[in-house]
Amino acid sequence: MFTPPVMDSARSWLQKLQQREKVSKKKEQGLNGVDESYEEEHSSATRQRVATAKQYIENHYKEQMKNLQERKERRCSLEKKLADSDVSEEEQLNILKYLEKKETEYMRLQRHRMGVDDFELLTMIGKGAFGEVWVCREKDTGNAYAMKKLKKSEMLRRGQVEHVKAERNLLAEVDRNCIVKLYFSFQDNDYLYLIMEYLPGGDMMTLLMRKDTLSEDEARFYIGEAVLAIESIHKHNYIHRDIKPDNLLLDRYGHLKLSDFGLCKPLHCYFPNLQEKDTNVGKNSSCSPQLSEQPSLPKRTQQEQLEHWQKNRRSLAYSTVGTPDYIAPEVLLKKGYGVECDWWSLGAIMYEMLIGYPPFYSDEPMATCRKIVNWRTHLKFPEEAKLSPEAKDLVSRLLCNVEQRLGTKGADEIKDHPWFNGVEWDKLYEMEAAFIPEVKDELDTQNFEKFEESDSQIQSSSKSGPWRKMLSSKDLNFMGYTYKNFEIVNDGEVPGMTELKKKGKLRKPSIKSLFGNPLFP
Ligand code: ADP
Ligand code: MG
Repeated sequence: MFTPPVMDSARSWLQKLQQREKVSKKKEQGLNGVDESYEEEHSSATRQRVATAKQYIENHYKEQMKNLQERKERRCSLEKKLADSDVSEEEQLNILKYLEKKETEYMRLQRHRMGVDDFELLTMIGKGAFGEVWVCREKDTGNAYAMKKLKKSEMLRRGQVEHVKAERNLLAEVDRNCIVKLYFSFQDNDYLYLIMEYLPGGDMMTLLMRKDTLSEDEARFYIGEAVLAIESIHKHNYIHRDIKPDNLLLDRYGHLKLSDFGLCKPLHCYFPNLQEKDTNVGKNSSCSPQLSEQPSLPKRTQQEQLEHWQKNRRSLAYSTVGTPDYIAPEVLLKKGYGVECDWWSLGAIMYEMLIGYPPFYSDEPMATCRKIVNWRTHLKFPEEAKLSPEAKDLVSRLLCNVEQRLGTKGADEIKDHPWFNGVEWDKLYEMEAAFIPEVKDELDTQNFEKFEESDSQIQSSSKSGPWRKMLSSKDLNFMGYTYKNFEIVNDGEVPGMTELKKKGKLRKPSIKSLFGNPLFP
C-alpha cells in the first residue's frame, strides 16, 4: 500500500518516542531500585499520553489523506465535466489551473494560523460599543476584507457567548448570495476578530439618509432582496431579530446582503415593563407608569417629521440604547416570538423607505416602544405620502398582529402580495440594482462615514463622503455579532469548488474556541 511520506514520519516519530520512554524507564530502574507502584502509576500516565498523541497524529494524517483524496476527486470530476462541455482546450486548461491555484490557496489557509498581524488595517468604517469595523488588506494576498473587532470583555460582560455559539454554526449553512460572508476568525488577548467580505456599497441607513424617500419601484427592489435574505435565514430556523437599515449592506453592484447576526434578545433592561393597552390609549396605565402615553405633541407634517427623524437619528444611533424603531411588539412585550418578528421589522423599513421615517418614530425611544405595542392606534400613513393602495396594504399586513401577519406561514405569502406583482424572484439578484453605488476600487470607503482612529468618543468628520454614514445603533442589550459563513476560497466560479466550502475545519471553531480552545489561534 502506498504510504505517504507524512505518515512515515509520524510513525518514526512515534517509534522514537516509545523507545525513549523505554530507555528512560530502564535508566530510572537502574538508578533508583524498584519502586513498583510509583513506576506503574507513571508508566500508565505516560502510556496514556502516548496513546493520546498517537490518536491525534493518526487523526491528523487520516484527515490529510482524506483531503488529498478529495482533491484528486475534485480534479477528476472537473476534468470529466470539462470533457463533456464544449469549452475550448485552452479554456479547459485555464479552468484547471484556476482550480489548482484555489486548492493551493486553500491548503495554505488551512496550514496558516491567522492573526491580526496578517492584515493591514486601512480605514475604520464603523465603531460601536463592542468594537470597530475596518477595511483591511491581507498582507500576503492583497485581498480586501472587512474586519470586525469585538472586545472580549464586553461580550463576556453581556453574556453573549452562548448566542454566538448557536448562531455561527447555523449560519455557516446559509445561502451566500444574500448574506455577508465570513472568511476567518481569530483572537488575541483583548479582541475577537471576524474577517468578512467587504461590501463597499455602504448600508441601507446611509442610502436612506441620502435619498430621504425611495420610489415604490426602488423600494420594491430592496424589500424584495431583503425578503429573499430573510427567507434564507428562516429556512435554517434562524431569527435575525435585529433587521434594520444599518444591518442591510450593499455590495459594489448595489445588491443587498444581510449582516450583523448574533443579536441577543434581552431587551428587558432598556425597555422595561411594556404592556399592551388595548383601550385607554393616552391615559395612564395602572400596570406601569412607564406605559402612559405622553401628552400628544403638536402634529408634525410629513416633512417636519422627516427632518426631525434625520436630525435625531445620529444621536439615536450613538446612544447605548439604540433605536427600537424596527422591533416587533411581541418582542418588546416579551410574549415569546418567532420568525415573524423579522417580517414586522421589514414592514417598518418599507414604511421608512416610502415615507421617510419609521412608522412609530417619536422623540424618545421609550415613546416609540409605547407606540409600537399600541400600533393599532399609531400606525398612520400621512396623506402627503401618496402611497399606492398595494403598498399601504402590504405595510399594514406586515405591521400587525402575529396571527394576521404575512410571512407567518412562509415568505411566499409576502412574495405573492400584489405589491410584488411582476417581480421575478429568481432573477432579482441578477438584475441591475435600483442604485449602483459609486465605488472606485475594492478598498474604496467613500460610501461610509469617516472615523478618526484615535476617537474614544464616536465622532464623524465633516468631510465624509456623499453617502453619509450613521453609526450603527448600539443597544447594550443587542449583541451585534457577525455571522459565521465560513467559506474559504470558493467564489463559485469553478465547478467542483463548492465542496471546498465546508472544508475550513481549522477555521470553523465553536465559540468556545474563540475563548481559548487551542485548536483556534
Ligand atoms: P454592530 O452593529 O454590532 O456595530 P455591524 O456588523 O452592523 O456591527 O457593523 C457596523 C457597521 O459597519 C455596519 O452598519 C456597516 O456600515 C459597517 N460594516 C459592517 N460589516 C461590514 C462589511 N462586511 N462590509 C462593509 N461594511 C460593513
Ligand atoms: Mg449593526
